[in-house]
Amino acid sequence: MTATSLPTATQVPAGLDDVAAALAEAMPRTRAWLEELVRIPSISASADHAEECRRSAERTAQLLTEAGLDDVRLLELDPDTEGRVVAPYVTGSWSGAGAHAPTILLYAHHDVQPTATAANWASPPFEPTERDGRLYGRGAADDKAGILAHVAALRAWQDARGQLPVNVKVIVEGEEEIGSPNLDRFLAAHADELRADVIVLTDLTNWQVGWPGLTYALRGMAEAVVDVRTLAQPVHSGMWGGPVPDALTATTRLLATLHDDRGALTVPGFTDDVRPLSDDERGRLEALDLDEDTLRSDVRLLDGVTTAGDPDRSLLERLWMQPTITPVGMDVPRVAEASNTLLSHVRTKLSVRLAPGQDPERALGVLVDHLVASAPFGALVEVTLGERNAAWVMEPGGPAWDAATAAMTAAYGRAPAAMGCGGSIPFVQPFSDAFGGAPCLLVGVEDPGSNAHGEDESLHLEDFTKACLTEAFLLAELAARADQLHHA
Ligand SMILES: [Zn+2]
Repeated sequence: MTATSLPTATQVPAGLDDVAAALAEAMPRTRAWLEELVRIPSISASADHAEECRRSAERTAQLLTEAGLDDVRLLELDPDTEGRVVAPYVTGSWSGAGAHAPTILLYAHHDVQPTATAANWASPPFEPTERDGRLYGRGAADDKAGILAHVAALRAWQDARGQLPVNVKVIVEGEEEIGSPNLDRFLAAHADELRADVIVLTDLTNWQVGWPGLTYALRGMAEAVVDVRTLAQPVHSGMWGGPVPDALTATTRLLATLHDDRGALTVPGFTDDVRPLSDDERGRLEALDLDEDTLRSDVRLLDGVTTAGDPDRSLLERLWMQPTITPVGMDVPRVAEASNTLLSHVRTKLSVRLAPGQDPERALGVLVDHLVASAPFGALVEVTLGERNAAWVMEPGGPAWDAATAAMTAAYGRAPAAMGCGGSIPFVQPFSDAFGGAPCLLVGVEDPGSNAHGEDESLHLEDFTKACLTEAFLLAELAARADQLHHA
């Protein structure tokens, strides 16, 4: 693609040739800004990176100011109750479209995940590198591409017209990758100034390269720590092994009660309030037709390893619309340090993904009851619950959804897939609630090959251009539906 050309699949909506041309012409510059942001290791999970998180917030603020937003600010909260510094939020707005035009809140986040095993990256995580049409780097897709999609769309309108067709507010969060722990405090302080008719979150995944996605369901998330104790202290395995139960065997037997041999959940009552699929929805999932080979290659499943779960439910239903319970960490001696000892105490962390419909308190209550009642050998089982948030789901449709569908269809040359997402964005429900149920558009910049959160994270560069175009077109599509969109 040369500096001024559009992707061949793009069909520019009538009357937007100037905006599309301005956006295409600026893409090399947009990409250079993205690379600048990727070079800043804004890892929110690491206290050592607080300065870098501040630097990424400051650079983001500068980009938003240069995109024509007014009163761009770093919004900072006081340190949390444990004294941790809260990574700054960046906000800005533009309200020159007049009272009749809808107000659109654009969301992205400027923090990134840690690099996992940095040595396993083909190129260093914070040195953006292009290979085969993809830009590799931590945050290249999730979600610094989301920030630049907002910047590219706003600039294209400003460059072509000197104004935007809608009023805009932007929020770029600095703590998304650690579960937005200070969001409630942030909303309590700033919800009024961020009030909008539609929320656009550019932080999701497209269905495939070249095939956009609009996400209408997110799973919720919860954590539980399980302590299993059998002895007051560890004892010699030779002297006492046999009649004396150890905590690790008890723990593995306890974890085994969570699933059957196929990997389907077996906690009694746990899935009772999962929202059943409608016929429409079942049809939509079937139309997307995720086959096992694609799943295997997307996640790099090893040869001979089967998929897990209830085979009567499709892979997509299992990924998006059903809950999971997965052990993700365990406190036991490392193999190199293990002695011939019966362990007295083992601690396990369970990661729970909650399905649409599930009440987190009910589901977790049922899980705790099951774990305590299933204790092998009468072991002492204690469960401590952590943060939790419910799943989010909307009915695909309505003026905002239609606007996004039109914008994506134009930018990508094909209609978006209505998707679920197995992951969680704790931000969505509280923001929608705070703005009187304003519709949320969850728009993709990633694709299944992006490997966000993993090693060799990457952005498909042509789809990135299409994501930027989507947003530029979306502003016009929303403006055209002003009468249907006004909210609180
Ligand atoms: Zn993200």
